Amino acid sequence: MSSIASKNAKKSAPAAKGSKTAAASKGSGGELIQHPIFDELGFQTDPNNLYRQTVSSMLQAADLMNLPSRLKLILAQPKNEIMVNFPVRMDDGEFRLFKGYRVQHNNALGPYKGGLRFHPDVHLDDVKSLAFLMTMKCSLVGVPFGGGKGGIKVDPYKHTKTEMERIVRRFTAAIAHQIGPDYDIPAPDVGSNSQHMAWIADTYSFLSEVGGHQPEAVITGKPVEFGGSVGREKATGQGVVDTLVEMLPEIGVDIKGCKVSILGYGNVGSWTGRILHDRGAKIVAVMDHTGGILSESGLDAHALAAHCSKVGGVAGFKGAERIDADEFYSTKVDVFVPAALEQMIQEPEARMIQCKVVAEGANAPTTPAGERVLESRGIEVLPAILCNAGGVTVSYFEWVQNKTCRAWDLEEVDAQLNKHMVRAAAKVRDARKKYKCNLRTAAYIAALERLRAAYEIRGLFP
Ligand code: NAD
Repeated sequence: MSSIASKNAKKSAPAAKGSKTAAASKGSGGELIQHPIFDELGFQTDPNNLYRQTVSSMLQAADLMNLPSRLKLILAQPKNEIMVNFPVRMDDGEFRLFKGYRVQHNNALGPYKGGLRFHPDVHLDDVKSLAFLMTMKCSLVGVPFGGGKGGIKVDPYKHTKTEMERIVRRFTAAIAHQIGPDYDIPAPDVGSNSQHMAWIADTYSFLSEVGGHQPEAVITGKPVEFGGSVGREKATGQGVVDTLVEMLPEIGVDIKGCKVSILGYGNVGSWTGRILHDRGAKIVAVMDHTGGILSESGLDAHALAAHCSKVGGVAGFKGAERIDADEFYSTKVDVFVPAALEQMIQEPEARMIQCKVVAEGANAPTTPAGERVLESRGIEVLPAILCNAGGVTVSYFEWVQNKTCRAWDLEEVDAQLNKHMVRAAAKVRDARKKYKCNLRTAAYIAALERLRAAYEIRGLFP
């Protein structure tokens, strides 16, 4: 069962930072999506299972483009699912056992690549879904990586810095022989940050004893002082905005003056907000795990980001009205940016949302049932594998900089990122025109075309 589907805390009192919730209770995620591949591979039969939902969107595209069935089978399951359990000493001298994951979905296009989530509700099926999305994203955006994802079942906000350092280093030791600069390159995700990446790089360098081979390239999202890239921190938000700039004109929305609401104001949400604000958009509503806020005249996105860094969430931000979840979803805007967790736009939210475009900053924020409602209401969805691909693109630049011992400036990073985003958006538009489908299916088709070409050339061993 998906770990997410059963959580139903969003409308109730705010939970711990980053806690996963889903508005609709278990069972409201719609009917069970059928496909022969699910039967052949013995998939979960829970309609709310995130992995089944995620793969079903890909299979819809694969059927439309007549992808060979062997490729559907290969892509429907990850290559490797690694689970580790490791003990760590707490500050009080007691030991606790932690569970960690690394899922390597596909490496046909290059080394596995994808973030590490530190969250108490991380489960294998979530990590599989996120790894699967990375394969599709890297393919679509044209970087030479496959897809992976991982995480630790831990609440990073409930541990001291010294405990987190031991947890992260011990996890790194547990998976050190499964990752590598040319094999599998993790990065940050929800709950993890550049400091954690630095500890991972340092631990891996120590264990790998290959000082001359850029061991720090084993991970991206590092601090700039230790092999990180300028522009990586804001990269995902920048990519969301680059995508909007490309896609909004044909939807008839002008960024300057457009109204935006943002769900989640962490890395992705706050950078999307700040960059949109600087381009003349008006951020009118924001909701995170601490509650919702509204200002019809527009929130100061920079001041809000500073407030969140200081107090841990949007609650208490001065100059805004406090609103509940229903009011947040119902606020009339042009662009709605989900930038929190998975499955947060289910049928009830999809009925409430009042916007022209949903720009998916988060991974898998919209369930298939939610998407059907949005579609029926004429709301365009810019899919996550396009919209939030800026993060992995700049992670690729960081890796290239590590490998070539160079440091790009911000202008070069932003220009190269924009080139990738514009190209990916064009591929999605072309696929939509050719196959007369929605943007999510078009994005999967564009991603699958590159994977199909690679598999045709590589063949299948033996
Ligand atoms: P983050 O931890 O920095 O922020 C997560 C945000 O979600 C926080 O503001 C938190 O308050 C909010 N949130 C958590 N539970 C909530 C709830 N129940 N209701 C409302 N808000 C809630 O994480 P992030 O890095 O910004 O990632 C957000 C999403 O974007 C995830 O889906 C992640 O996989 C995806 N993503 C991140 C990156 C990246 O570079 N960080 C890249 C691509 C995709």
